[in-house]
Amino acid sequence: MTTAGTARETTARTGPGAARQHTLRERNLELVARAVFEVPEPLSRAGVAAATGLTRATVSTLVDQLVAARLVRELPAVYGGRAGRPAVPLVPAPRSVVGLGLEVNVDYLGVRVLDLTGDVVTNNVVPGEFHDGDPAVVLRRLGKLAREVSDDVAVSGMRVAGARLALPGLVDPRTGLLEVAPNLGWSSLAPVPLLALGDTEVRIANEAKLAALAELAGGSDVAAPDSFIFVSGDVGIGGAIVVDRKLFLGERGWNGEIGHVVVDPAGPRCSCGAFGCLEQYAGKDAMMRAAGLPPSAPLSSLVALLSDGGSGLADGAGLPAGRALGSALADFVNLLDIGTIVLGGAYTELLPWLRADVEAVLADRVLAAPFVDLQVRAAQAGPQAALTGGAREVLQAVLAHPAAWV
Ligand SMILES: [Zn+2]
Repeated sequence: MTTAGTARETTARTGPGAARQHTLRERNLELVARAVFEVPEPLSRAGVAAATGLTRATVSTLVDQLVAARLVRELPAVYGGRAGRPAVPLVPAPRSVVGLGLEVNVDYLGVRVLDLTGDVVTNNVVPGEFHDGDPAVVLRRLGKLAREVSDDVAVSGMRVAGARLALPGLVDPRTGLLEVAPNLGWSSLAPVPLLALGDTEVRIANEAKLAALAELAGGSDVAAPDSFIFVSGDVGIGGAIVVDRKLFLGERGWNGEIGHVVVDPAGPRCSCGAFGCLEQYAGKDAMMRAAGLPPSAPLSSLVALLSDGGSGLADGAGLPAGRALGSALADFVNLLDIGTIVLGGAYTELLPWLRADVEAVLADRVLAAPFVDLQVRAAQAGPQAALTGGAREVLQAVLAHPAAWV
């Protein structure tokens, strides 16, 4: 038993110690909840005790509280070979406490509900055209979608723990301000009150950062790398930097704006006001235009065109999308020394037609390319991954403070 393990169970019953006892109970609840939630195979109470260093009696009391609060569920008892009490496997409770992921992007609004098991309870993505949309109108519409979904899950007996609103721009979670989202044409805006979601706690976050967190949780096929550069390609192109399984956020969380890396100073004007940004070559609208499709067409029409042998990504206006993307990514790899690149958003589906150009430019432009195995991968977290990342963040907060639910 470590000193820390002993300290966890130190209890005092009166005076200032009572507050400490309260805090210890909260911390122990978190330890027990994490032990149940963060293991691949379900643990019994004895397993949780072994994993946390807490006594069986303490674990039993805390597990009972988590079960009563419907955060943890007991599976049918498993009888071992030896005499003794059967083990009751403990798992996250399905359809009890849920998190809401919300998103405004340039071409869709989304609401996704995840439960504590990670299952998608509800998913509602509404395509649209929100560039230069009135923030009050767009956010009221998203708020209405979110209220409808919240009402539905409440009727089914689920409790909404909160929401994260993903936005394609620079956000300040401390002040709740969206500083600027060039592709929406929005700036200096407090979006949460416009959702009018009443008592639901809503926090704002950057779309690509939330999508990278969803990616970090791992997909069904491949475990996420510990460190990677994540790029979310849509009309705008966002990015996130993950180092040792944590987001590297810079000073204010405003890094990773790869869409505004200049790939040709003599190029066309960007929504941000600069010239020749990556978005003007490898943003979804730019790729649609290069392929001769209207920007409002669905991505599937571009995929269909490319599948039929069209060369829309290769013969764009001047600089092909894949080469532009490779050029911006080479700058990131040269700066950061992170060799795995995960392409999300529209790029996940388009990767077969982007890969050769991206990899060729990386090989040419990354100084370390001859000495490292640069990897370009498709994201695993699925479409509109920021919705998943946002809902997961809400549920992570539940896990970090389960006492609030007991
Ligand atoms: Zn720009």
